[in-house]
Amino acid sequence: MLTITIRRAFLFLLIVLFTIPCTDSTSVAATAKPSSYQRSIIDYRGRIHPKFKKIARKKTKYIIVHTSEAGLKSTLNVVSKGKIVRRKRITYGGHANYVIARDGRTFRTLDKRYRADHAGLSMWKGETDISSVSIGIELVGYHYMEITDRQYRSAGALIDILQRVYHLNDQAVLTHSQIAYGRPNRWFKKSHRGRKRCAKNFIRSKAGLGSGPSFDPDVRAGRLTPDPELAVILYAKRVAPSERVGTNIITAKNVAWTIAGEDYNSPNTLYKLPNGKIISGDLIEQKIGWKYIPRQTVVMLNQPKIPRKTGPIKTISNGLTAWTLAGSAYNRTTTFYFFPNGSVKNGSQISDWDELPPRTKIIVGYRNNGKVSRAKPPSKIAGGRYKHHTTVYYFPNTSLVTGNFVKSFRKIPSGVQVYLPVKKS
Ligand SMILES: [Zn+2]
Repeated sequence: MLTITIRRAFLFLLIVLFTIPCTDSTSVAATAKPSSYQRSIIDYRGRIHPKFKKIARKKTKYIIVHTSEAGLKSTLNVVSKGKIVRRKRITYGGHANYVIARDGRTFRTLDKRYRADHAGLSMWKGETDISSVSIGIELVGYHYMEITDRQYRSAGALIDILQRVYHLNDQAVLTHSQIAYGRPNRWFKKSHRGRKRCAKNFIRSKAGLGSGPSFDPDVRAGRLTPDPELAVILYAKRVAPSERVGTNIITAKNVAWTIAGEDYNSPNTLYKLPNGKIISGDLIEQKIGWKYIPRQTVVMLNQPKIPRKTGPIKTISNGLTAWTLAGSAYNRTTTFYFFPNGSVKNGSQISDWDELPPRTKIIVGYRNNGKVSRAKPPSKIAGGRYKHHTTVYYFPNTSLVTGNFVKSFRKIPSGVQVYLPVKKS
């Protein structure tokens, strides 16, 4: 109800506003009061790579929603400056017109009149190269995580504005997973959907949009083979929310392709095996073979560097967010965050996911088993596993050490907290 009321009020405001032609320049501000949302858009256009070629679009038929499969910093960086694979720049940015952060902040990364290189190999109603006829919006986050309410609010407001400017109805708003297609590969014999999973978790109604297309026109016309999982998520009448979001953990049904799409064998896609070993996508075939990836392997997208430490203690940095490190367990009570300021929280106690400070440490799948004291030495708390590499000790000086690296258990001070892995069911 509330969203409907907001949308109505917003539409009214827009009708008032958009009798004046909308441009990306700020000159409108002098004559009319632009909505507070529009004024809040952060101008990020100057950050684009100087070698990116700006080309004005001739037509605008669609608005394409993406999930960036990365955190905010690396999303803005890739969208503006381009993609880097193994330290080599392979594109010059211009990969979206807008980026919407998890907290709803909206960045204008490329003026809306220019063609953003965002859709890649794509097809809709037989037309290809959808980038040339569409605007691209990147939502920061992952297709296997929920999109935040603030993102939906901003996306709804932004899409409303763009629909008015370009006279587009709700059917013109599509996700990248709907329009991307792939050439035949090891999973499909023919050209097919499923190359991108991007924004498959986008719930249209939450952005104030009416229902989208009820079928895939290119699959129906026989131009493309459907992707079984995406077909259900995008076109079935009822989809369980958990099915829409999914996870980044490999199971019998959730294979590398379901999680990573065409990036399944990219050097920037990392597979963390249950034994802690990390292998990049380009080496999976050679090292273990696609058929033999163990279940419970965690798939991490867009990781230009392989993290050196593979023990249980992970560190948040520019490229590594809570989502990439903890996967869908990021907000669980068994995921612990150790902040640089010394405070400790579990995933359920955190609400502001965009503001996790760099150097925050994470352990996933753990339980706090209490403090060391004279009466309770580590061997009493952790039993025979007190020296083990999976037993984690948190010292009063805020250092985190695994059992195999504790120098002297005799000198371990009282007050050290002991964390033990939760048994997997
Ligand atoms: Zn995309």
